[in-house]
Amino acid sequence: MKIVAIDGPAGSGKSSVSRAAARRLGFGFLDTGAAYRALAWWALDLEIDVTDESAVTGLLNSFPYSISLDPEREHVVVGEVDVTDSIRDPRISLCVSAVAANLSVRSWMRDHARRVAAESGFPGVVAEGRDMTTVVFPDAGTRILLTAREDVRIARRAGEAAGRDLAETTASVRERDAKDSRVVEFHDAAPGVSVVDSSDLNFDQTVDAVLTIVERGRAE
Ligand code: C5P
Repeated sequence: MKIVAIDGPAGSGKSSVSRAAARRLGFGFLDTGAAYRALAWWALDLEIDVTDESAVTGLLNSFPYSISLDPEREHVVVGEVDVTDSIRDPRISLCVSAVAANLSVRSWMRDHARRVAAESGFPGVVAEGRDMTTVVFPDAGTRILLTAREDVRIARRAGEAAGRDLAETTASVRERDAKDSRVVEFHDAAPGVSVVDSSDLNFDQTVDAVLTIVERGRAE
């Protein structure tokens, strides 16, 4: 099983770039942020306080989560509910970092990501998140930190969420990165991790930069 591990902050383009790279490689695509978002969604649905660590930990034993690794089809399910779109709501982005700060949650997520990658049926998986290169797949054949300057990331996020106020987007990206970086390091590359700075690259150039690093890893 080949793993391409990609980390980066909010708005770095991780998801869309990783998905496109997976398509080109014929690999599966694993968006690990979706599981944190789905757990936050489930806690809200059950009216559980996301900052109540033991209550959220208690959910893990029976968390009915599944995600498709097919890069052509984004599909995220909790129990009987298709949450593919609702986990992107701003109300989830606002509270997901609290769920992600819970260490029992992080260890459940690590085991889950390793298991679904191993069982994916694809020859390889592009896995993206915040701790893929360091914690979940530290031995991956390719490890990449995808970054971009903060102003570029904010402009991209504002563009994605059409009609959203720039000041609101700035606050939300900054706050989420600040909260997330308390539990996991994704601003600086760990030893052996290649950096792709997409600030001055367009989408296709960024995907090509990622694929060049994957190829380099294969040649070594
Ligand atoms: O990647 P995305 O922005 O959808 O991730 C949502 C949240 O999930 C992040 O803000 C972070 O709190 C958490 N996360 C994480 N570790 C990962 C992936 C996501 O802590 N590997």
